[in-house]
Amino acid sequence: MNKIIQGLVEFKQKFQKSFIEEFPDLANGQKPQALMIVCCDSRIMPTVSTRIGPGDLFVLRNIGNIVPPYNYINQGNTLKHSSVLAALEFAIKYLQIPNIIICGHSECGAMKYLLANEEVPETPFLHNWISEAKSVYTEFSTNPKSQDINPKTAHNEISKLNVIHQLENLYTIPVVREAVDRKKLKVYGWWLDISTYDVYHYLKSQNEFVQINDKTLETILDELYEEKS
Ligand SMILES: [Zn+2]
Repeated sequence: MNKIIQGLVEFKQKFQKSFIEEFPDLANGQKPQALMIVCCDSRIMPTVSTRIGPGDLFVLRNIGNIVPPYNYINQGNTLKHSSVLAALEFAIKYLQIPNIIICGHSECGAMKYLLANEEVPETPFLHNWISEAKSVYTEFSTNPKSQDINPKTAHNEISKLNVIHQLENLYTIPVVREAVDRKKLKVYGWWLDISTYDVYHYLKSQNEFVQINDKTLETILDELYEEKS
């Protein structure tokens, strides 16, 4: 805890001045460029890795960057997952955020849990939440190609598949669907490799994750993720 409190003092001494002109405006409201749905993992630093400042990114964090499908939520389970829906409604209806990024990552504990496919009695809520990504495990485990994947990196492969599934789940939610149909909202899938801090973008046309760098930037911007037809 010392490190965190000392960090506050250091921020005040060294960095607060660089934002001082922005703070009064920020207090009047926010106009973030994107909502990022990302895992709770402490190694992920969304605003640091994208080199953006306060007010630029609206962040929803949960275990495994999961968006439960609306059809399921709507079957008497609305309150169960209302946190995700509330964040989406706020971002889209109140802030008119034009972009949503779902960002998965390597070495994700939630994906290791999902891959193990075992219920741990000591953590019933964790199990219940990660079960929302059960369809990811089903697709992964029944794909013959999965058998060839190195068991040491299988959790990273299922993590990428999880991003694709969560993108699809997003489109099942009416408030997202409506904004996308009106061309007010675009949705992207990213994946962060924690060992290098490289970020990969899901290119639908190639059905693969492409590293975001100066060489791929144009291709990525040209082909933004669009819904499956
Ligand atoms: Zn994670």
